[in-house]
Amino acid sequence: MADDILPYGRQWIDEDDVAAVVEALRGAYLTTGPTVARFEAALAEFVGARRAVAVCNGTAALHAACAAAGLGPGDEVLVPALTFLASANCARYVGAEPVFVDVDPRSGLIDVADAARHVGPRTRAIIPVHLNGRPVDLDGVRALADAHDLTVIEDAAHALGARYQDTRIGDCARSDMTIFSFHPVKHVTTAEGGAITTAKPELAEALEVFRNHGMVREPAKLRQPAPGPWYYEQQSLGYNYRITDLQCALGISQLAKLDRFLARRRELAARYDRLFAAVEGVEPVAVGTPDSVSAYHLYAVHCDFAGAGTTRAAVMAGLRERGILTQVHYIPVPAQPYYIERGADISRYPGAAAYYAGILSLPMFPAMADADVDRVVEALAAGLGAG
Ligand SMILES: *Cc1c(COP(=O)(O)O)cnc(C)c1O
Repeated sequence: MADDILPYGRQWIDEDDVAAVVEALRGAYLTTGPTVARFEAALAEFVGARRAVAVCNGTAALHAACAAAGLGPGDEVLVPALTFLASANCARYVGAEPVFVDVDPRSGLIDVADAARHVGPRTRAIIPVHLNGRPVDLDGVRALADAHDLTVIEDAAHALGARYQDTRIGDCARSDMTIFSFHPVKHVTTAEGGAITTAKPELAEALEVFRNHGMVREPAKLRQPAPGPWYYEQQSLGYNYRITDLQCALGISQLAKLDRFLARRRELAARYDRLFAAVEGVEPVAVGTPDSVSAYHLYAVHCDFAGAGTTRAAVMAGLRERGILTQVHYIPVPAQPYYIERGADISRYPGAAAYYAGILSLPMFPAMADADVDRVVEALAAGLGAG
């Protein structure tokens, strides 16, 4: 029966993934060994980035990126009002303040014109989020960043494998850094895991030091004379944000399947789109930018719950009874008590509020069958009285 349950997202682990982890377990390192560097090289190659630095999760990747960007107290960071908490919290980790920006009510992507209205004398960075796997208007973000000398950190936790014009998300052609997450619901998994990609070697170096307590060992970079080969220096404050060889062995094995996973996600999305075209009161989230290809981390639809005389909670409960688990991505961050206490006001974000009002994430993972999509569409149509 458990096999009949459709979560909104799920990892796909084969026997060769298991074998890769077992092999790493028999190796000499377990934690930081050669497999971490191999995973970083494979990721950098896949997205077309010069460097990749892997860390223990996507949230740590965001924290590291904010630190490497030199953000700190007194600085403001533009963050979309509709995203996962971590996209905003990372600014707080370094003592900076997220300044929320409204999103397009249909795509949920950052509204670059509204971002421009929130730029002030303290604005130092912007964290655009490729929500659902759809690239934001990166040309617009780049132009804004150039006009105000902002660091651009792309939150691509949803967008591994997405394309924007002639580039892959993560190549950092229009940004300073891009972060990824390898949580099991994302495109490939290392259980917990994350990474930052960049085209700038000096940022990659800062990220590596930050991930390992701020420790520096390279003789040429030491500030004091080295008394012997054991010597290391802490030159800044860092953390233990290391990822392990075990995790990276899984990551390498998973990355080899990413193209296949992405192709299947796109097939499933096309099937959903086609079937929902005939269902009243359901509209797939809008494509954000032309010339872009979604990585379909999530498949989200806008539902007219009120128009159907029901509520989102009732529809979700009905779907759950049929073994279909759905989710809401996301509650607008300025509506969270923590940020309200810091002065956030959700009434200033009508786009985020409108997007949130009717959004529902449906099952989307590469192991799904076509028949699973059909089952979800039928069940949602029935829940909205449109079946
Ligand atoms: C998953 C996610 C993160 C954080 O990743 P973790 O690996 O879970 O820490 C950050 N931003 C967004 C948009 C995410 O979906």
